[in-house]
Amino acid sequence: MPSLTFYGGIGEIGGNKILLEDKGTRIFLDFGKSFAARSKFYEWTERPRQANGIGDFLALGVLPEIKGIYRSDILKLARLPPEQDKFVDAIILSHAHSDHADYISFLREDIRLFMGQTTLDIICGLEEEKNANLEFEITNFKKRPSDRHGLPIKRDIQTFRTGDKIKIDSIEIEPVHVDHSLPGCYGFIIRTSSSTIVYSGDLRMHGNRGDLTRDFVEKAKLTKPDVMLCEGTRIDESSSQKENDVFQLCLDYINQARNHFVFADYSYKDLDRFTTFYNIAKKTGRKIVINTKTARYLNALSKNPALKVPKIADETIVVYKHRVKSGSYSDTDYDKSDSELFGGNANIWTSEEVMKNESKVIMTVGSNHIEELIDIGPQRGIYLHSSSEPFNEEGELDEVRMNNWMKRFGLVRLHAHCSGHASGSDLNYIVNEIGPKILIPIHTEHPELFQAFHSERVKLAELQKPMLF
Ligand SMILES: [Zn+2]
Ligand SMILES: [Zn+2]
Repeated sequence: MPSLTFYGGIGEIGGNKILLEDKGTRIFLDFGKSFAARSKFYEWTERPRQANGIGDFLALGVLPEIKGIYRSDILKLARLPPEQDKFVDAIILSHAHSDHADYISFLREDIRLFMGQTTLDIICGLEEEKNANLEFEITNFKKRPSDRHGLPIKRDIQTFRTGDKIKIDSIEIEPVHVDHSLPGCYGFIIRTSSSTIVYSGDLRMHGNRGDLTRDFVEKAKLTKPDVMLCEGTRIDESSSQKENDVFQLCLDYINQARNHFVFADYSYKDLDRFTTFYNIAKKTGRKIVINTKTARYLNALSKNPALKVPKIADETIVVYKHRVKSGSYSDTDYDKSDSELFGGNANIWTSEEVMKNESKVIMTVGSNHIEELIDIGPQRGIYLHSSSEPFNEEGELDEVRMNNWMKRFGLVRLHAHCSGHASGSDLNYIVNEIGPKILIPIHTEHPELFQAFHSERVKLAELQKPMLF
């Protein structure tokens, strides 16, 4: 009988690692980073010791103990014995958020990987920043301890699109696009030897492309599924602001801030939000100032013309050159991927140009380069807080510290945000439409609320306890 075992994503937002087993075939639906587990021991910017390979991650429960899935080089560094038999056949990745994708980095290279083309483009684009980060080695890695001349080991990756059917022995997976806060996201309809399982991934109805999620709901409904794994990030919230509301609100705020500095903070992977600020910049005669990470991200997405991403050399876009090492903006201060950007055809500004044009920018360099405010020295202005409400899927900012930085430079905090996740009422609509026999809440801190709404079909999963279907 097929079974589902959850190694993450239960009682927490993210960290999805869901094992599906059928007739000896085993696949994982996502293999993400768990912020809940990791943040018990580390600040976001801290890194577990890489010298101990996978050891620290296993010892602290940041990764689950499963034999036959992890890379031999990082097991060896942790002084753990080598494992011969491969336990898992494939990983099916729903989208490029860290809490779904990043811990693929630890998996052995003979496990096949399936993902959408845009997800692959995003991950490859971000991997261009070579900073030897064990937690972000998804498409390829160099064996550790690192040998400078060692060739990277490439993983076996296949891409899919809506309409495809991926067959892995007795399991068939049908990806269907959904709308979420970054492009290229999928939900899945999975047929095992004796059941149909629907996996929502992360999704929303209220975004600019709610039609994608509707397609998924329609297709899933037709299969009369036995089981649905449904994300419930915002099951406790009843409504959502739309992206256009964010546009109107922020445009209004920025118009009022007329001659002052604007610092806008959003999750850099949220292309809709970038587009909102880009359009506002155009409308108000400002430049949108992005960091090199965002520039690489936009470059990666521009491979797909359907996404209509502006070129980073666009006149409204400025790439910010931050000050590091010698402090003199010398070419040797930057790594290859940053140098390539600074030497390209994009508009490049340092703090000096931003200072001269203080009232003509929307600064979106994120918390990574927050210290640059000291060099820019804005006198007054606004801080548009425009990222996920109580949590952040990319875990990039610590809200209290951000607020302190903003206050220090006289920036008044204002909030406007359109979430990447469906509200409670939309989630209830989705579940009722699809009508699974059994509903398993995942990716939520409030699984019990699903019970209140759908008591007859909810089954609460426990970590590492197989459920048979
Ligand atoms: Zn997520
Ligand atoms: Zn997500």
